[in-house]
Amino acid sequence: MSQYVFGKPRRPVSRVFIHCSASDNPAHDNVATMRAWHLQRGWSDVGYHLFIRKDGVVEAGRPLEITPAAQAGHNTGTIAICLHGLDIDKFTQAQFDTLRALCASINRQYGGKLTFHGHREVAAKACPVFDYKAILNLDRAGRLGVLNIATPVRTGAAVSEIGMEEPEARRTLRPVLRLGHSGAPVEALQLRLNRLGYHVGKVDRAFGKRTRAAVLAFQADNHLMADGVVGPSTYEALDEAGPREIGEERKSAGILDLAAGGSRIAKASVAQQFAGFGLAGGGVLSVIDESTGAVSRVTQGVELFGDTLARLGPWIGLAVVIGGIYVVLQARKAAAARVADHRSGKTA
Ligand SMILES: [Zn+2]
Repeated sequence: MSQYVFGKPRRPVSRVFIHCSASDNPAHDNVATMRAWHLQRGWSDVGYHLFIRKDGVVEAGRPLEITPAAQAGHNTGTIAICLHGLDIDKFTQAQFDTLRALCASINRQYGGKLTFHGHREVAAKACPVFDYKAILNLDRAGRLGVLNIATPVRTGAAVSEIGMEEPEARRTLRPVLRLGHSGAPVEALQLRLNRLGYHVGKVDRAFGKRTRAAVLAFQADNHLMADGVVGPSTYEALDEAGPREIGEERKSAGILDLAAGGSRIAKASVAQQFAGFGLAGGGVLSVIDESTGAVSRVTQGVELFGDTLARLGPWIGLAVVIGGIYVVLQARKAAAARVADHRSGKTA
């Protein structure tokens, strides 16, 4: 175990952001787990620079030279520090001592000009859950006060020197996407949305109505302006977001009530969830999509019949949708049968 020494990166830094890992699981108490989670999201590395374990030991995450992926829309010019923990009572004194010593050391190297902030100051989140302002003795602007520093900061992981893709550079290359666009960037978007649980149906590289509905649902869930257009802030949120959590109330009445109330986003979300049921149920809707093209009409129908669904409940609503598909298929079969009968001379 050695002492951690903060080395100022060459990129400009003006703010430090504090996070919590939102887990109290001892198996997650290391930067390797955070890195694995973030790589699963398709990032190049863990989003945070420094991780403070329950025992107060610092582990190095993303190299300090690289902009973090930690505070959507507020990553440039920042350093991101994450403390392992969720329950406010389970953070340790050792963690807070390390945080104080670390922040004091960082601040000293910037001549006291940095400001320190919680993730929650720039996002509709509780992160971090603890009172970092009191722990760091911050003034109103976020400047560090005089701190009582007991121990040097210990480190448990070597600082990674592996070259990483620059996330900011990647971001600026991504085009703004909207309804009607197509191509590789749309494909990447569709894959990402599907992965996060916002189902776009078939990944066809075309930004159609279902992709737009998925974007609207994602934007609404992430407190973004829900305009269905994928610009820098939506890209950044897509990078940062974890898989969609669909609560019980959202699976059933709540969202349907919203849909009945005329919310465009809620209707899009309802359509999304029914599309999701279809995919989860063995791809019923998507199979039909390929064979008959009926599915697009069905999902639009879900939007239009939002009030019917709210009245009948989601499962009966789903039965209505499936019934609708059945009717379409029977109608087509009947038409085909009539053609066959005509050809064979059974009818006039
Ligand atoms: Zn955070």
